[in-house]
Amino acid sequence: MRQPVIQKNGGWAPRVGAWVLILSALVSPSVAAQEPGYEVVEPGRDHYFAALSANAVIGAGMAGMRAWIEGNDVGDAVLRGALGGGVGWMGKWLATEWDAAPIAGRTVASVGNEVVRRASGPGPWIQSVVLPLGPAHLVVPMDGRRPRLRLSLADVGVLAWALAQPELETDWSRSLAAGAPVFVANDHAIRIDGELYDGFQWGGVIVMETHPPDADRIFRHEVVHLVQHDFAGELLWRPSERWLLDRTPLGPILPSWLELGLLELGTARLSTHLFGTGNHLGGLLEQEARWFAGR
Ligand SMILES: [Zn+2]
Repeated sequence: MRQPVIQKNGGWAPRVGAWVLILSALVSPSVAAQEPGYEVVEPGRDHYFAALSANAVIGAGMAGMRAWIEGNDVGDAVLRGALGGGVGWMGKWLATEWDAAPIAGRTVASVGNEVVRRASGPGPWIQSVVLPLGPAHLVVPMDGRRPRLRLSLADVGVLAWALAQPELETDWSRSLAAGAPVFVANDHAIRIDGELYDGFQWGGVIVMETHPPDADRIFRHEVVHLVQHDFAGELLWRPSERWLLDRTPLGPILPSWLELGLLELGTARLSTHLFGTGNHLGGLLEQEARWFAGR
């Protein structure tokens, strides 16, 4: 008689996890847009501390929940998740403090994301580091294996959309500095659903105005949204989209280096439609971008 196999990760656990991720995805904004003329807050120690606490709590919560679903040590995951969230905060601070190369801050934040991602299970704290290269990512394993490239179809689509807009110009120096395509609308106003905006981040792309005294602040603000987007991609979208695709005929066909990224654009669009851009999580993300950008 064959022995029954008892798996530690029961069949229901990953399913619950994926649906929790999808539901949380529903409350995040689709386009992180920046309203013109909002009151610029000079961030003080209390703002930075509030942002640090929020990042640590989110990291701890996500790692703890995942460890609980997977039946692993929750206390250990919460501690490691909080530390990962703290490293993510450091990345945002560096990305906005050092205007010349926000990509350095994004890379530090990606180390924090990896710590949160790996916090729920045993094994090394960091398995790989993700370097942003526009719509592609270079995943560098820490164990000496060859780096591999990953491409987001959704980001390629948003990039193609931006390139096709005659009013937008590519800002090469900011693009290189951020590790993401940056477009400027020099003599044009940016409108979304009829309202005026200073800039927005859509997928891995930044579109912004350059009216003189504010251009650097507008850029910093969108860079913070980009780092938030990196976090959501690594911890929410990518794993849940893969999990869903693996349950369809597309799963085995789709190469591992290609990701659709449609879950992010699709559910976020639905969330904006249902809850508007001013939902609670969207408000938190916006607040953080304003604090970091205001320095
Ligand atoms: Zn914003």
